[in-house]
Amino acid sequence: MEVIWKWALKNAIEHDGKALPKAVLPKVLGERPELRENIRGLMEEIEKVVEEVNSLSLEEQKERLRGIAPELLEKKEVKKELPELPNAEKGKVVLRLPPEPSKYLHIGHAIGFYINYLYAKKYDGKLILRFEDTNPTKVKEEYYEGIRKDLRKIGIKWDEEVIMSERLKLYYGYAEKLIEEGHAYVCTCEEEVIRKNRWEREECKCRFRSIEENMDLWKRMHEELYPGEAILRLRGDMRSDDAAMRDPTLFRIITDEHPLQGKKYRVWPTYDFAVSIEDGLSVTHVLRSSEFLARTNLQNHLRSLLGLRNPTIIHYSRINIIGFVTKGREIRKLISEGKISGWDDPRLVTIRAILRRGIHPKTIERLAKEVGLSLAQTNLEWDMIAGINREMIDDLANRYFFVPDPVRIEVKGAPKVTAKLKLHPNHPERGLRVIKTKGVFYIPKEEARPGLIRLKDLYNVELKKEREGLVGYYAGKEISKEVKKIQWVTEENVEVKVLVPDGLKLREVKGLGEKGMEKLRKGEIIQMERFGFGRVDERKPLTIIFGHR
Ligand SMILES: [Zn+2]
Repeated sequence: MEVIWKWALKNAIEHDGKALPKAVLPKVLGERPELRENIRGLMEEIEKVVEEVNSLSLEEQKERLRGIAPELLEKKEVKKELPELPNAEKGKVVLRLPPEPSKYLHIGHAIGFYINYLYAKKYDGKLILRFEDTNPTKVKEEYYEGIRKDLRKIGIKWDEEVIMSERLKLYYGYAEKLIEEGHAYVCTCEEEVIRKNRWEREECKCRFRSIEENMDLWKRMHEELYPGEAILRLRGDMRSDDAAMRDPTLFRIITDEHPLQGKKYRVWPTYDFAVSIEDGLSVTHVLRSSEFLARTNLQNHLRSLLGLRNPTIIHYSRINIIGFVTKGREIRKLISEGKISGWDDPRLVTIRAILRRGIHPKTIERLAKEVGLSLAQTNLEWDMIAGINREMIDDLANRYFFVPDPVRIEVKGAPKVTAKLKLHPNHPERGLRVIKTKGVFYIPKEEARPGLIRLKDLYNVELKKEREGLVGYYAGKEISKEVKKIQWVTEENVEVKVLVPDGLKLREVKGLGEKGMEKLRKGEIIQMERFGFGRVDERKPLTIIFGHR
């Protein structure tokens, strides 16, 4: 039997060419649970195959497995490891996670953060969680703790935390150094003029102010000038082909209240300035996505002017998530329009949303290893996330019967049976679902048509169309490959609502679950047989969020 060969070969390859019948059995049963009915015969068959498999060389075993189930072979052999980092010394690597607390993180961020976390572990290094919160207009208080919580939930640990808005004095010091050395000037031009000059690569008159004048205006920025009246700019190169170098803004006046600092400051550094300093002061390796590539020149230049060391900067490909809204701005709009319920709405791929759908933290770790630091564009589709997640949760998810769109069927001649079904086919120790059946069942509407079916793990039923509707007749116990196995519940059942995310729609599938589902705990991940995996979101009424098939 091919299924035995497949698992015997895999087991042998994993154990230096020697398979164990006992290890093969649960794998075979996991795939073909109906074989349990003749377990002794099956075990004999497995022993025979294992003997044959063990007589082959490891190479021959691999060759055979490649022939019947290459997917099992590849997974073991292509064990993804992150490539070495350049200039990395064990114990001395410092990396950072840099969220802006203006939104919740999505799976793309999570993967990027995981890459940093895995490298910090690999080199016994230090990981800094750094809140880039120097734009008071965008930052909101709830996101600080929300982000920490999300990161903890997916298993990322950091060693130190930096809140950039607490370090403005430090940044001011560096700004003054630049002014005093003639590398920065206060520009009082109108915004439009500045934009036009950048486009036309022309300098403005402010560039020629004396250091004293600049220092005076810098002080006035903190005290009396209004937003838009003055900015501090780098004396860069207005003729540079690198647009970022054309006298970029280093500080601007923002009078909005900051969620942590209140009205304490009114002059705020730009992203490039603050980040250049932080990365230069404490970070050895910056791993970031390629959208930041254009900032590199400028940031390195700023550090050289400030006398700071340049970290090793590595860009990996931007991760696009296909078919989901990921931009903070767009999500905020959907929430305010009432089109989604919040940042944890299952139609999103924020960390909190995918956890609600039953995505396992290990799935994010695996994705991080697979995406690694690849420079090819990464398009992430739900199917890929689901494929990995299925492997991660298959073992932990207990099985239950859920019947969508249920149709009531009376089965004539039905024996009374006490069905004992395993919570998990490979884990008998988790116990049984004991269901007493009489003659009434509910099955999915799409299966309710004349013909022979098998009530899964129970018996066969012949469905016939009669005057009063569809009627079932008991049709024996023997198992046949051709007969479709259908999930079912009895009259002892519980109402279940499954929410299925579908683009920006959230389909509500109503149905019945077996009585035992009443005991499910919130947060539990289950497999609804023939329907899919999901996570319990509410206990009353029992609501499950669909993850994937
Ligand atoms: Zn100017």
